[in-house]
This record gives sequence, structure tokens and C-alpha cells, in this order.
Amino acid sequence: QNTVLVVGSGQSGFQAVASLRTLGFDGRVVLIGDEPGVPYQRPPLSKAYLAGTAGLQQLHLRDEDFYAEKDIELVAGRVAEIDRAASKVRLEDGTEQGYDHLILATGARNRTLPVPGADLPGVLTLRTRDDADRLRESLAGAENVVVIGGGFIGLEFAAHAGRPVTIIEAQDRLLNRVATPEISAYFAELHRNAGHTVLLGQGVTALHGDERVREVELSDGTRLPADLVVVAVGVVPETALAEAAGLSVDNGVVVDAHLRTADPKIFAIGDCANFPCMWADALIRLESVQNAVDQARSVASTITGTTAPYESVPWFWTDQSGTKLQIAGILANPDRTVVVGEPATGKFSVLSFRDDVLIAVESVNRPADHIAARRLLTADPWPPYAELENSAFDLKAYLK
Ligand code: FAD
Repeated sequence: QNTVLVVGSGQSGFQAVASLRTLGFDGRVVLIGDEPGVPYQRPPLSKAYLAGTAGLQQLHLRDEDFYAEKDIELVAGRVAEIDRAASKVRLEDGTEQGYDHLILATGARNRTLPVPGADLPGVLTLRTRDDADRLRESLAGAENVVVIGGGFIGLEFAAHAGRPVTIIEAQDRLLNRVATPEISAYFAELHRNAGHTVLLGQGVTALHGDERVREVELSDGTRLPADLVVVAVGVVPETALAEAAGLSVDNGVVVDAHLRTADPKIFAIGDCANFPCMWADALIRLESVQNAVDQARSVASTITGTTAPYESVPWFWTDQSGTKLQIAGILANPDRTVVVGEPATGKFSVLSFRDDVLIAVESVNRPADHIAARRLLTADPWPPYAELENSAFDLKAYLK
């Protein structure tokens, strides 16, 4: 019987097995994951689940019955090795599973902070449900909370922690890697207005403490009191299996336009995959639900006989302090930006252009712009600056 084996039961692994069944795949479907329980989604971990307004049930992607109904085998365990010659994987417990197609959906793990004291009790991170549970518990008893890293996870944590925190960012603006300066400035003000302290351009050189963390030392020598430190300084892709199996790894498992590795039986999807993205005109790795879900669907259709390459428009959302930011496209080297609407009203969009075509749109509390942007970015060619200017940069009007 034709077997598809998926390693990693997070967002993309779950979607791959679900989509295989939706598309009528009638072979064996096996989902191997090393986290306890049924597959769950991560976005609420730094939002409603952290805030205590969503429970365990709302994290689950499907309840247990789904897997039985769809004849999807859930295997608990960690894959230790891929034996490509024999087309099978070996788990840490010594059991083996054979495959006809293997999908690597191993995600990413949090980057650690390379400074003294980073392993003190009270220094936590946020990736898994267990991490979120630990954070919720620690928050209840903490007086001084310091967040290291002003990216999406750090900022969402701050927004949903339910108390003022200090956010430390080494770059001179928040969301430096993923948003335009206009958006960075807006979110810095949003968090300051919510009562948080935002320190920019400050590295962390050490964490100090005794039986637990007590202080965070900054690059200018300042020591901040802290009894809970959340390290949110990005992730590294989980690529060890692929690397050991001799597959190409370079900031993720390298795949082609069909998300296939050099081994025709092995695919990689989601946070762990470095894929050719037409919106970036380069190989990139994306960390988003859209990317995980759409890549999983694409591989499921490839396995069931479709030949189309993966070409979904990248998009992303984040919720912070009542503000929803949605991003469509990829902000790769924009050379011009246009702000539509008034940041002061809390509703605006930033249009980014490169070589006089639209490449990305960031929308703050303007969902209609976001939906229009996703449609516009599927157009070929992408909308030229001059034509959008003629429509007064009204994306919906331009679409008509
Ligand atoms: P994961 O969901 O990380 O799943 C990978 C799984 O593989 C994990 O369970 C891992 O333990 C397992 N695994 C790894 N190696 C092995 C092995 N050898 N054997 C067995 N199992 C293995 N994205 C958005 O678009 N919007 C958001 O608002 C948003 N919020 C987020 C909030 C948080 C707190 C986090 C952590 C992420 C958020 N994301 C958000 C990102 C999004 O959740 C990820 O991009 C998505 O989960 C990636 O899916 P994945 O399947 O590639 O990886």
C-alpha cells in the first residue's frame, strides 16, 4: 500500500495529512510527532491562550475522532534518522516506518541567547503549548517582566501578558526584519501607550541572578530588575534529519518549486523549508500559518497527481493590543513606500514598491486593503506604481 509519512505534527504536518484525505488519497497516511496530544495551532499561544481567554480545546486543529474517521495514524515519538536507501525512518524508540513519500514538516526551534545567565530559572521562551503553560504560571507570580526581542512573538507576548513589561530590541526599531519603518514606529507607540517600556538599540550582554534570574544587563551597562525574562529572538529551522540524510540544507531544507528535495521521494514544508519564492525572487524560509497550510496543500496535491508548482501569495497576521496587522507579499528591498490612510486614526496601510511595481502591503485595521492586496499580488504583472497613483492608491478601486 502506498504510504505517505509526515514527520512533525504541527500546522503543516497536520494540514498535509488532512489534505491528502480531502484529495482522495487512499493509501496509508502516518503522522509522526514528538509533542504530546493531538496536533494544535501555535498562534493563540502568544494571544488568547496566554491571556487565558482560550483554552486547550481551542488550540486543537481537530479533535481525536477526526484522525480515526480519516484513517490517519498518529504516531507519538521523535524521528531520529532517515534511511533513504531503504525508504524508511527510525524513531528514537527504535521502531521503524517505511514510506513511499516522506514529508518533512519539522518546523523550527527557538534561538537561544548567547550570553551568560541565559539558562537561569525564570528565563523562558515561547514556542510550544508547554512553554505557554509555563509562561502563564510564571506571569502570575512575577513582578518585573522583561521581553528580549521586538519581533512578532515578543510583542504579542507583551500585548497579552496583562501587565506592563519592558521590551528590549537590539535594532533601532521594532519588527526590523519584517515590517517597514512606518509600521515599526506605529507599534512602538502602540506598546508605549499600553504602558510598556520599549528600549531600542540595546543589546543584552548578561543575565544575572542566584537561584533564579534577577537582572538583565544591557549593552550600555544598565541593569534592569527582572524575575521573568522572555527570550524571543527568532528561530532556527529544524533541519538535522535532512542534513544527516545528505539532503541540501541552507537556512532550511532546500526544495524546488514543488517543495521537493533532491530526493524525489522527500518533500519539506512550513517553517523548515527554504523554497524558491517568486515574490522574493529568491529562496526564502517563511514562518507563517499561510505558508505552512498552503505548502502542505500543495505537496498533498503533488502526491495525488497535480503538477502545478507552489505559488501562493505570502500573507501574515498579528494581533496586538486591539490592533490587527496583516501583511501581504514579501518586503524584499522596497525602494518606495506610500502610506494610505492616517496612522493617527489607527487605520492605515503601507504600500511598498520595488522597481515601480507593488510588492507588499501592510494593513493596520484595514482588512479590506489586505484582501485587495492579496488579489492584486496574484496579478501578472504586479500593479505598477503609476497606475495605482491614478487610483489614488485605493486598492479596492483599482481592482474594479
Ligand atoms: P511547527 O508548527 O513548529 O511544527 C513542527 C512540529 O514538528 C513540532 O511539533 C515539532 O516538535 C515536531 N518535530 C520536529 N522534529 C521532529 C522529529 N525529528 N520527530 C518528530 N517530530 C518532530 N503565524 C501566523 O501566520 N500568524 C500568527 O499570528 C502566528 N503566531 C504565532 C505565535 C507563536 C507563539 C508561534 C510559536 C508561532 C506563531 N506563528 C504565527 C507561526 C506559525 O505558528 C508557524 O509558522 C507554524 O506553526 C509552522 O508550522 P510547521 O508545521 O512548519 O512547524
